[in-house]
Amino acid sequence: MIIQLQPSIPASDKAVIIEMVRSFDYKCTEVKTKDNCYLIGIGKKEFDIRLLGQMKGISDIHRVSDDYKLVSRKWKVKRTHIDLGDGVMIGNGTLAIMAGPCSIENELQVQQTIDHLVGNGVRIMRGGVFKPRSSPYAFRGLGVEGLKMWHTLARKAGIKIISEVMQVSQISEMYDYVDVFQVGARNTQNFNLLDELGKVDKAVMIKRGISGTIEELLYSAEYVFSAGNERLILCERGIRTYERASRNTMDLNAIPILKEKTHLPVIADPSHGIGIREYVEPIALAAVMAGADGLIYETHQKPEEAASDGQQTLDFEESARLIKRLGKVFDLRENF
Ligand code: PEP
Ligand code: MN
Repeated sequence: MIIQLQPSIPASDKAVIIEMVRSFDYKCTEVKTKDNCYLIGIGKKEFDIRLLGQMKGISDIHRVSDDYKLVSRKWKVKRTHIDLGDGVMIGNGTLAIMAGPCSIENELQVQQTIDHLVGNGVRIMRGGVFKPRSSPYAFRGLGVEGLKMWHTLARKAGIKIISEVMQVSQISEMYDYVDVFQVGARNTQNFNLLDELGKVDKAVMIKRGISGTIEELLYSAEYVFSAGNERLILCERGIRTYERASRNTMDLNAIPILKEKTHLPVIADPSHGIGIREYVEPIALAAVMAGADGLIYETHQKPEEAASDGQQTLDFEESARLIKRLGKVFDLRENF
């Protein structure tokens, strides 16, 4: 059960409601986000919901049968969209495109990428400065200094930044320089990190775990929401299966399923999803047809020389072609 409280509810009225919820043998958790206040009631007993509905300070009550509550679509019919400012939106009925290198490498690379994005109408740039690498000897990112350099150049061009945060201590280091915190596939169930991201007022995009189920991804989002941050985006990035012909198995099934289960925007990452440069485009287009609210993919001026993930990275020509085709497929989907 989700009880939406009036944002200005006096503490005394809230205490009376909490008392009432507990009297039905329900566990009651208070969730306060930047703009809203909720009580989450967990329990089994049947009771007449009108008993609560009449109480002072309640704006709405919803029964939610899913085990995750706040991210469920059962209570929020209107989909959530994320406003990054300056007219950049995710999940508002347009197709959000986020593109950029796997890793931020140097100033020239960043400027060339920004020029490419601006030239093609893309407003959000991706890039890692803290890189989770399978081998400790691989390039592990430029760190916060690289992020600051990137931020200075991106702001001049009106470009928003999404970048991966790997641990709690990096949240405050990165805070001033990112628009969206990305939680990587290796951290989807890092519950301490998710709790702490619940305390910030910036958007968070959570990638599906490498071996994570769709439900586990929704629970991860529930962690962040219930800790106070409702500016959430989900990302399907492929899962590990027995198949070895591609880096991961892009689970396109997850896109319509997530869209049905949650009100949050759903993004597809075809680069990590298939891991093979030549096939990124068809998988990206298929993800749009499957209902994705946006795409995140890797592009680099010279993929062969990229510091990481070059094998799945598009060059700027391929990226420009993809952007055009994404637009066409999106129009087709919307007018189907
Ligand atoms: C990335 O976006 O470069 C990345 C490391 O992604 P994932 O967490 O999906 O592997
Ligand atoms: Mn990558």
